[in-house]
Amino acid sequence: MKVDVARGRLRGAAFRPSPFRDRRPAGVPISLVVVHGISLPPGRFGGTAVEGLFRGRFLARQPPDLADLAGVRVSAHLFIRRDGRLVQFVAFHQRAWHAGVSSFQGRPGCNDYSIGIELEGTDSVPYTEIQYERLISVSRLLMRAYPAVSADRIVGHCDIAPSRKTDPGAVFEWGRFRHALAV
Ligand SMILES: [Zn+2]
Repeated sequence: MKVDVARGRLRGAAFRPSPFRDRRPAGVPISLVVVHGISLPPGRFGGTAVEGLFRGRFLARQPPDLADLAGVRVSAHLFIRRDGRLVQFVAFHQRAWHAGVSSFQGRPGCNDYSIGIELEGTDSVPYTEIQYERLISVSRLLMRAYPAVSADRIVGHCDIAPSRKTDPGAVFEWGRFRHALAV
């Protein structure tokens, strides 16, 4: 894997563009990575619903528990599936719509200056070994490509929107992740 900074792409990830993106504000470096967890329906893995949601192909003909998501305009830069496959939806230099109302160290609007990575999962089912491996590798590459991202600026969605969000959940092993990044 490698980050192509000029194109904002992770080589090694399938690129499936999302319409839910726009420009980052001018002159604002990428300085944060936000880790999320998602599965649709929650707790069911391996389907196409998450990609459909992020690509604007999420139709009303979903199971009733998902029908409310039709018309929701969200995306992320990267999605790491349970089996380690990587999908990129938005180029890194563009703004993906993953954080929502958020702030990090008092600075609001995290989408402006962050990269969003979704892990396929839930708050309560352990993430897979290969997902940790991929997330660690990708984080290292992103820190190298975007030097304003340091290891302590890789946080959970729960950290930047604590009143609204719990992902990636208590099962996510931050200690293990941070230790791996430090060595
Ligand atoms: Zn999230």
